Amino acid sequence: MKFADYPVHALMEITARPPLVFTRGEGSWLWDHPGKKYLDFVQGWAVNCLGHASPVVARALTEQAAKLVNPSPGFHNAPALELARRITEASVFDRVFFANSGAEANEGAIKLARKWGAKNRGGACEIITFEESFHGRTLATMSASGKPAFASLFEPKVPGFPKAKLNDLESVERLITDRTVAVMIEPIQGEAGVIPATDEFLRALRAITRREGLLLIVDEIQTGVGRTGRLWGYEHSSIAPDVMTLGKGFGGGVPLAALVAREEVCCFEHGDQGGTFNGNPLMAAVGCAVMEAVTADGFLEGVRERGDYLMSGLRELSARFGLGEVRGRGLLVALELGREIGPRVVEFAREKRVLINSPRAGVLRFMPALNVGRSEIAEVVGILGDTMREFEQVQTS
Ligand SMILES: *Cc1c(COP(=O)(O)O)cnc(C)c1O
Repeated sequence: MKFADYPVHALMEITARPPLVFTRGEGSWLWDHPGKKYLDFVQGWAVNCLGHASPVVARALTEQAAKLVNPSPGFHNAPALELARRITEASVFDRVFFANSGAEANEGAIKLARKWGAKNRGGACEIITFEESFHGRTLATMSASGKPAFASLFEPKVPGFPKAKLNDLESVERLITDRTVAVMIEPIQGEAGVIPATDEFLRALRAITRREGLLLIVDEIQTGVGRTGRLWGYEHSSIAPDVMTLGKGFGGGVPLAALVAREEVCCFEHGDQGGTFNGNPLMAAVGCAVMEAVTADGFLEGVRERGDYLMSGLRELSARFGLGEVRGRGLLVALELGREIGPRVVEFAREKRVLINSPRAGVLRFMPALNVGRSEIAEVVGILGDTMREFEQVQTS
């Protein structure tokens, strides 16, 4: 089938998409409609943590689909209970509420914090978030986000999200008032271009929020479930947050998210929170399979080892072409280009059958499957070298 024969005009236009239709995937590889093969280091936006068409995900889906898909969120089901047990046993948290997207999990965190403030802090409802942060695309989570492109959209915003500066403790302290109930932070700002909160900053934030009686919410939708080389991103700084949200890689490619909290914070009353598809056994069964794979012996060591390998390859590339910083943790990695050429480099790389993304014009981001092979990393770095050489030739000619 030719691209022109696909009914693309039946879709609402929300972003510029290249004229390709992907029809099949396997591990780190994707095939488009004419059958061309691509090395994929986007992986559905850090979603397919076990790669495309993972047999682990496929088995969980098919076995559960034949057993029970949805008894309703008003009844218990075994996969949801099992997944909640796995998460609480492997983290500092006690209880889980399942959702279908990261934004929905964050909405839940915002509601939980506001409820907790109504009960315990005299109606305090403000949640301090950070400039450049990204928490989702619902009205409240866009309001919570510090992404500059969101600032003027869909007014009026949901009030109650003052913005501090990342890694600047004083900027947080200045915003704390009687109305403050929580601080919400990404351990690494993914959409901003892989900008880490420092371990010292996270520890200081935990100390201040404890001292002031505020909740600390970590948005681990991008950093959770092994992406940074540890199961949860907060582990790198050895803090114990009060609330965590999960999404993206948590479902290994299927829509699954979670709001996770310590017992003392779990103050929802019946009727406060819910959702028709939430905690359905089909998605929860996949979550269980993903958790089992990611917590298997040696898996996270492998993520750290291949993350280091990717970063060292990119550092060589950066030195060779006079680019900027390489940063990240595990397999969430960014390369600064030093110029606003990201979107064009992404296009050049796609011509060479490598898929990467540019969350900001001066940055490339790499978020391969957590089980990506060393040879696939070497291939991407090699092709990116060819891409940069060709790009420079085009620029100077
Ligand atoms: C992707 C992302 C979200 C939003 O998740 P959706 O599933 O797209 O709603 C929220 N927070 C962070 C840190 C993310 O990376």
